[in-house]
Amino acid sequence: MTAATHSHVMDTYTRLPIALSHGQGCRVWDTTGKSYLDAIGGIAVNTLGHNHPDFVAALREQLGRLVHCSNYYQVPLQEELAQRLATLSGMEQAFFCSTGLEANEAALKLARKYGHDRGIDRPEIVVYEKSFHGRSIATLSATGNPKIQAGFEPLVEGFVRVPPDDIDALRIATAKNPNIVAVLLEPIQGEGGVRPMDDAYLRAVRALCDDQGWLWMVDEIQCGMGRTGKWFAHQWAGVVPDVMTLAKGLGSGVPVGAMVVGKKACGILRPGNHGTTFGGNPLAMRAGVETLRILERDGLLDNVARVGDHLRGGLTAALAEELHSGAVRAIRGRGLLLGIELAYPCGVLWKQCAEQGLLLSVTAETVIRLAPPLVLTCAEADEIVRILVPQVRDFLRASATSAAA
Ligand SMILES: *Cc1c(COP(=O)(O)O)cnc(C)c1O
Repeated sequence: MTAATHSHVMDTYTRLPIALSHGQGCRVWDTTGKSYLDAIGGIAVNTLGHNHPDFVAALREQLGRLVHCSNYYQVPLQEELAQRLATLSGMEQAFFCSTGLEANEAALKLARKYGHDRGIDRPEIVVYEKSFHGRSIATLSATGNPKIQAGFEPLVEGFVRVPPDDIDALRIATAKNPNIVAVLLEPIQGEGGVRPMDDAYLRAVRALCDDQGWLWMVDEIQCGMGRTGKWFAHQWAGVVPDVMTLAKGLGSGVPVGAMVVGKKACGILRPGNHGTTFGGNPLAMRAGVETLRILERDGLLDNVARVGDHLRGGLTAALAEELHSGAVRAIRGRGLLLGIELAYPCGVLWKQCAEQGLLLSVTAETVIRLAPPLVLTCAEADEIVRILVPQVRDFLRASATSAAA
């Protein structure tokens, strides 16, 4: 690897010394020919895996037809994707953008406008500890991670922060505050360490938002798009939000973001209030439409539930002793978004597993995150367990020894 100081690419990421060249399904190859099982899918992005034949054919066809035309014109593919998202979510309308932070930025603007329309001049939005909503100035201000905020102050004001899964804390933090307009949460906190919120908590927040006239906004950028075995993670709780943000898996690797809104949030953003040049371009919309079409046609939500259970069961059985001793604190998540929390910071496993031919990530310092393509098979899940578990055991043994020394 060339030293970062000699690169013309700005040094904003910690990278492995690997350059991926091509992929097929859940397998990728680097430029030296070494193969890897992909258990992270570009951070929950490659929904259909790599080089999916129908996805590739559709995008090729679209490239030869129309890539971009701006939002000066009607874009029928936007209508098609918005209609599919509305049907799957039980919501009404979609605004399209290209990334996750843009979807959240749109939601924050919508919530503020909702407040202003009701005569609230300084609207405030409830956000959570350990949350992640992006790295723009507004979304990093909403994010519950001081490390992401450090050096970028002053932060955007108008946020009230609460701990997750604690309805009393939410009530107390918002009591007698007439400026609250919305609650924004991730049904499963992704970057925060794959931490699902209780279904009962989600229902309680929905009810509180209804009582108070607040918007309930869910960030499903990481946990949505079928990853948990339902279209959207909040659907496990049997509730419907007022605003939902999507990105990552929506375009199977093509940048597509969306803010989906229910009735209560329709008609708030008007022509001239918001927009983005690339948002909803025909290539991106085709990627979204084809992703949904193939997910549905191939019954991939059922695959997620089945293979997710198989993977979780395999990990739980193989790490039973470590779970019992507390060296593995927990195995969490839903479907194919799983976190394995260890008792020690385990960032080194990212590199060590890659050397063994397994791509994953480590988040929140102590949590191994698995977010493979939704086409993962049980045999591939077994392979993840077979490579990962010995690495975890070696790591835990070495950590225990050095902690005792
Ligand atoms: C990744 C992520 C974002 C930010 O998305 P970008 O496309 O990187 O801007 C926001 N929220 C959640 C929950 C995410 O996982």
